Amino acid sequence: MFCALAIVVLQMTLEEATKDLSSKLANLYGPGEASAITDLVMEHITGWRKMDRIIHKKDEIPHRKKEQFQIFLEQLLTQKPVQYVLHEAWFMGMKLFVDENVLIPRPETEELIEWLITEWTQSNKPKIHVLDVGTGSGCIPIALKKRMPDCDFSACDLSPAAIGVAKKNASDQGVFIKFLQVDFLEPMQRSLLENVDVIISNPPYIPKAESDSLDKHVVNFEPHIALFVPDNDPLVFYSAILDFALDHLRSKGQIFLELHENLGEKVSDLFRNRDYSEVELKKDLHGKVRMLRAEKK
Ligand code: GLN
Repeated sequence: MFCALAIVVLQMTLEEATKDLSSKLANLYGPGEASAITDLVMEHITGWRKMDRIIHKKDEIPHRKKEQFQIFLEQLLTQKPVQYVLHEAWFMGMKLFVDENVLIPRPETEELIEWLITEWTQSNKPKIHVLDVGTGSGCIPIALKKRMPDCDFSACDLSPAAIGVAKKNASDQGVFIKFLQVDFLEPMQRSLLENVDVIISNPPYIPKAESDSLDKHVVNFEPHIALFVPDNDPLVFYSAILDFALDHLRSKGQIFLELHENLGEKVSDLFRNRDYSEVELKKDLHGKVRMLRAEKK
């Protein structure tokens, strides 16, 4: 067993490594996703795009890279998401650092960001202050700051480790965001945040009871504090955001929220019953209701 492994480690062309990885991953993820993950891993290891990897397919992988390949393979076979294995996730054209302290940014969140930018572009307020609640990797304010450079951005998270990741990402991307470690569910703590014109959030919203139906690579690796809410209070973050907005969101201010596909109506009722006009739900690219926008009167 040891000898066989040693031979694999000693000699391996790019083509062999690619086939080995994608066939092993296909058992776990199916051929399509396995090939997408393989592409990400091979690009990370070689630094080459697909076309260059094809041209160099008969090249031997250098020893150090082979060791890295084996480590990645072992981790991927435990169903660890490729983003955590490589410590990188693509989001709105940026390569962000991620580890298991932060949620892997999702494409739906890109849609929420685009919605905010569209609304802001149509308004005549060039310089606004935006707060992101539960920033995780910092993906939301960093992406927004790049597209709205004259605006101010604050972002909070309960986890000091997540704040560390978010600060690293902001600095890697060359933008300034005010990051604050705050337990947003604590009224005293959230009351210390500044007044803003816009609140955006992709808060935890999955009831704990649903954890059994989630993919293993999500539930076994992504931070539970970023995913789950108590079964008896699934709207806890939306209620806290509403409470905060009472005295911290300026008049005519807007709120952009991501939400659970089954809770769209419940969340919008919450806003309609308060001082909000134009409460609007929006579907994502897959046709699921996943976003809400509300404007304060
Ligand atoms: N704002 C981050 C994201 O959208 C983190 C969200 C969270 O931790 N619930 O990815």
